[in-house]
Amino acid sequence: MGTNRLDFRRIRRRFRTPLRTGVGLVESVDRLIIRGEDASGVIGYGEIAPWPGFKTESVDEAERMVRAAQGNLAQLRHDVQKNVQALPCLASALSMLNAWSEIKKFSGGLHCAALLREGATPDEAAARVAQGFSVLKLKIGPATTEESVRAILAVTPQSTSLRLDANGLLTLVPARAWTEFVRNEPRIEYIEQPLPVDHAGYTSLGPEKIACDESFTSPRNDARWPDAIIVKPSLVGDWDAFRTWSKSVGVKFIASSCFETAIGRQAALAFAAERLAKETVGFDTLGWFEPDGRDRHTPGPIVHGLPNYDWEKFWGEVA
Ligand SMILES: [Mg+2]
Repeated sequence: MGTNRLDFRRIRRRFRTPLRTGVGLVESVDRLIIRGEDASGVIGYGEIAPWPGFKTESVDEAERMVRAAQGNLAQLRHDVQKNVQALPCLASALSMLNAWSEIKKFSGGLHCAALLREGATPDEAAARVAQGFSVLKLKIGPATTEESVRAILAVTPQSTSLRLDANGLLTLVPARAWTEFVRNEPRIEYIEQPLPVDHAGYTSLGPEKIACDESFTSPRNDARWPDAIIVKPSLVGDWDAFRTWSKSVGVKFIASSCFETAIGRQAALAFAAERLAKETVGFDTLGWFEPDGRDRHTPGPIVHGLPNYDWEKFWGEVA
């Protein structure tokens, strides 16, 4: 052994408060961290971080494949390549591992949007602006009113913009009303995933100021892409394939966290900085879990990487 060695750890992270999503309440997520070491002793890390309800392999499926490789990184690469379209999380994790010597140098910083829960009050929004955030991302649901969003616009400066995210929870009639509201309000950048994935109603909503998140995992050709696509570097599949594809698609790409550990976050931030245009990113996801030592970065309106961090120590500690 010693050549192309592969190790992994599976960890569970519990949210402080369960998150409401299109597939119900999410109380915890499981992540697989992989560690590879080549013949010359170069070490790389990657993270398999699927999100419930997104069309990717599950953690269990990924773990089965990692186990089947029996500690051989070249074997895992080979197995994933055979079915890469169906394994975006594994392909992403291998891209991280391959690029780790660059990723670990990433220091930042990137402008980050503040993430506000559904039902956030104007006071909460104003508090985030006071912290220095100039973009607020607001979760909305069937119970959210336009008045509540107007109230947030009213207490925040004109220079503050809003992004709305419905997580696929709306039906067609309210989705139409929200789309119109968003198009008439210059301070709202877009509404994300108003309808469930692949809902026929997207055709009638049209692309303007619509962003998709849940609908997008790995690159594919589809003439119906809206204005913006939320890209989670952990779900995007092979990073080089994404880069090639993204240059051919005329939409705005927004990088977003998938609630990774510090390893996936370091990689995703580096991806956002190097491979996407300088749009404000969605990485305000620290502090959402019960304290478990798996977050190491610092939150805030500008997010930074951790250059020269001792990732071997982190690996040892997350076990
Ligand atoms: Mg979203």
